[in-house]
Amino acid sequence: MGRYIGAVCRLCRREGVKLMLKGVRCETAKCAMERSWRSSPPGQHTWRRRKASTYGIRLREKQKVKRYYGVLEQQFIRYFRMAERARGNTGDELLIVLERRFDNVVYKLGFAPSRRAARSTIVHGHLQVNGRRVDRPGYLVKPGDKIKVRPAERSQKLVRSAVGDGGGPAVQSWLDLDSGTLEGVVNALPSVEEVQIPVETQYIVEMCSR
Ligand code: SF4
Repeated sequence: MGRYIGAVCRLCRREGVKLMLKGVRCETAKCAMERSWRSSPPGQHTWRRRKASTYGIRLREKQKVKRYYGVLEQQFIRYFRMAERARGNTGDELLIVLERRFDNVVYKLGFAPSRRAARSTIVHGHLQVNGRRVDRPGYLVKPGDKIKVRPAERSQKLVRSAVGDGGGPAVQSWLDLDSGTLEGVVNALPSVEEVQIPVETQYIVEMCSR
C-alpha cells in the first residue's frame, strides 16, 4: 500500500485550501495557511508562475480531492470507475464513494483527529466492523454497519482520548455515535450536501473521462 510521506502542510499550500490533515493543529494559529508568509504555493519563484491552463485547473481539482481523502492515483481511478457505473451524477457519486471510506468514517465519528490519524488507528487493528476486525482504511462502509473499538485497554484508551478531545467535525446525520460505548452506526449513505469539500467535481469528471 503506497502512501505519501512528505510534508503535509505543503499539500494545503499547493491546493490553496485547508485540507485538515493534522487534526487539532489545523484549527490553531500554527496552521501554515493562517500565516501569510507560508500560505503561498510551495517552491521557488511562485510569484512568477503563469495563469493556470485549462488542464492545470482540472488537474488541481483532482489532486485536491485525492489529497483531502489521502488516496493515490490508482485507487482514485478505481473509485472514479465505480462512480461512472453508478446511476447518479458521476461527480456526486465519486464524492459519496470517497466519503464511505472507513478512514473517513472513523474521522467523522471523532475516533481520530484527522483522516491520517484514522488510517493509523485502523491499520493497527484497533477497530471492528460488525464484530470483526477491519484493518483496511479503504473498506467502504454500508448502511447498517456497526463500528466498534476493540475491547483491549490500549484501543479503548486511544480512541477515548480522541473522542474526549473533540477535535474532529460534528457527527453528521448519516452516522450515529454512542460516545459511552464508543460505538458508531452507519444509518444511511451520505448525501452529496454532507460532503463539505470545496471542489468542482465537473472538472474531475472531464479530466478522468478521457
Ligand atoms: Fe493544512 Fe492542517 Fe497544515 Fe494547516 S495545519 S496547512 S490545515 S495540514
